[in-house]
Amino acid sequence: MRVLITEIIWNEGIEELINQGFEVDYDETLWKKREKLLEMVKDYDAIIVRNQTRVDYELLDAGIRLKVVGRLGVGLDNIDTTAAKKRNIQVVYARHANATSVAEYVMTAILSANRPLYFADKDIKAGNWDRKKFTGREIANKTIGLIGLGEISHRVAKRALAFGMTVIGYDPYITENDFIVTETGVQVKESLEEVLSESDYISIHVPLTPATHYLISESELKSMKTSAYIINTSRGGIINETALASALINHTIAGAFLDVLEVEPISSSNKLLFCETAMITPHIAGLTQESQIRTSVLVAKEVGKIVKG
Ligand code: NAD
Repeated sequence: MRVLITEIIWNEGIEELINQGFEVDYDETLWKKREKLLEMVKDYDAIIVRNQTRVDYELLDAGIRLKVVGRLGVGLDNIDTTAAKKRNIQVVYARHANATSVAEYVMTAILSANRPLYFADKDIKAGNWDRKKFTGREIANKTIGLIGLGEISHRVAKRALAFGMTVIGYDPYITENDFIVTETGVQVKESLEEVLSESDYISIHVPLTPATHYLISESELKSMKTSAYIINTSRGGIINETALASALINHTIAGAFLDVLEVEPISSSNKLLFCETAMITPHIAGLTQESQIRTSVLVAKEVGKIVKG
């Protein structure tokens, strides 16, 4: 049994694969070397990727022995699942393994927008002592609007409620019997517009699909309060970045926390780089020691089950 790993995996995952009897070939930069990857993949029963490797018709065709694609994370937008199905290649992923990490990132973003500890520390070390400048704001009694009410939103909702926030949300595919509603009491709104206009913080948790591409564009940003922040940990293509940069430059919204971008790594000409009120991170919301160990071991186990039949 041979497995090819094309992006970063934690050692615990490799150990799990070896314990199961796999021969493991691991190159965390292989996703960048397309020709080499296409040449190598024919010799493997399984391939394990994150979100950078393009697993398309061409790669799946080249993988004549492939039984399974393992995705270290959630979100299958880099994998052509239809093409995999046609070739009888299964796709497994780390369902929910990093949801808590993403939820904690969202809370960090909201808290840091209101309590600028990092900047206060920098100011003190520059020789100042300015208490007024760093007066914060409470998040209790503010409203968070969740777009998409799945696993991550469920965990954000529980944390936001613990901070005394009001939680509202929009998701046309859930019903009042869904666990997020019954367990947290999140107020589900009929329209996206209602959530956008009523929230102080908007957090996006939908998959990237043709239906969610540019879900947030110029008119949606116009519906937001001028004091509101938008947080995107979902996928870059869900927010129209040109429209967002205009909203930030014209101060029609207060700020944005962006963990994901239309093009990753960010291009040096991306206007968002020059927006003071955009806080950008390199797709790390789900990336913690705990989540990566969970993800690597889970995917290794699932891949093993399929290859062994
Ligand atoms: P999930 O499948 O549990 O929930 C997604 C929800 O979105 C579902 O309830 C679905 O009904 C809803 N939805 C779909 N289309 C919608 C639409 N047009 N409008 C409103 N709601 C819609 O997924 P999840 O585990 O909560 O993850 C959400 C996304 O977060 C993933 O698809 C992935 O892209 C992203 N993610 C990012 C990171 C990171 O590190 N930044 C980590 C994990 C997940």
